[in-house]
Amino acid sequence: MIELRDVSKVYRQGRREVTALDGVSLRVAPGEVFGVLGHSGAGKSTLIRCVNLLERPTAGEVRVEGRDMLALGPRELRQARQGIGMIFQHFNLFSSQTVAGNIAYPLAIAGWPPGRIRERVEELLALVGLSDKAQAYPAQLSGGQKQRVGIARALAPRPRVLLSDEATSALDPETTRSVLGLLRNINRQLGLTILLITHQLEVLKEICRSAAVLERGRVVEQGKVIDLLALPGTRLNALCYAPFVAGAWPLRPGGRLVRLSIAGDTAAQPVLAVLARRFGVDATLLEGMLERVGGVPVGRLLVELTGTPEALELALSHLREQRYSPELVAYA
Ligand code: ADP
Repeated sequence: MIELRDVSKVYRQGRREVTALDGVSLRVAPGEVFGVLGHSGAGKSTLIRCVNLLERPTAGEVRVEGRDMLALGPRELRQARQGIGMIFQHFNLFSSQTVAGNIAYPLAIAGWPPGRIRERVEELLALVGLSDKAQAYPAQLSGGQKQRVGIARALAPRPRVLLSDEATSALDPETTRSVLGLLRNINRQLGLTILLITHQLEVLKEICRSAAVLERGRVVEQGKVIDLLALPGTRLNALCYAPFVAGAWPLRPGGRLVRLSIAGDTAAQPVLAVLARRFGVDATLLEGMLERVGGVPVGRLLVELTGTPEALELALSHLREQRYSPELVAYA
């Protein structure tokens, strides 16, 4: 649905050059929620603005629904943008217009007749749960309600792609969850493809199926969120489970400090009981985190394993075979 190939963007400020994007390639499948995670200054805003050509890349290719965006003339580009909605961190609503007026705006620009605009606005107000606020002004709304208006306005011309530029960054955690819930419903109900940028790992875990991590204008990893979280050694895995510190536990003689990754099927096994029964290896739980991401259990456990050296070797190779990706952190 969206494809960036080797996209670079260099800003020129007088004689100084800033490389905001450096050979970025990514693919967003139809109907998917795709997140780009990165710190401030990583190039996220530039990346998302290159999709609808609010910024023109210095090099590379941008395709949306197979269309080569950089080859479009001004009129075709305006038309292509009708299929790409966008929402913003600070909502960008017109303060002098009512909620209904804000939502109607892109339809009026696109030349819809007034009767159809009224119908569509009512439909959208119901979709975002603001039917009673049609005549309110943005200043009378909470942050979450303003973003709902932003979403309704973006969806008005029935786009097939929604770009979200840090849409929940200005909201408190509870409002963030409710706005993300709305985006998830819209994605499911309308089959809308969503590309979002965020600096919040929670946003990826909450609604994204796939993600890319952006660092200094480069994509350093990309894949399914659940896979990236589960795989030891990825940025997402490290970010999520960083609090684990080796060396804080005095080990028993012969003890091994082992980190286990849990994801999907592995969570359904009574793994500690198997270690004890089959291998005669005892496990002491030291730290752990287990949660559901997209309905799939994922997490990590830090355990101390004790037993004879032979039993420990067999137990570790069993854990490897069963895809617990055991990492030996320390041994006594
Ligand atoms: P993020 O959204 O991840 O914070 P940005 O895409 O806004 O990152 O910025 C990436 C880099 O490009 C930063 O170093 C920023 O200062 C620079 N940059 C962004 N926009 C411009 C611009 N219009 N002119 C010059 N430099 C810019």
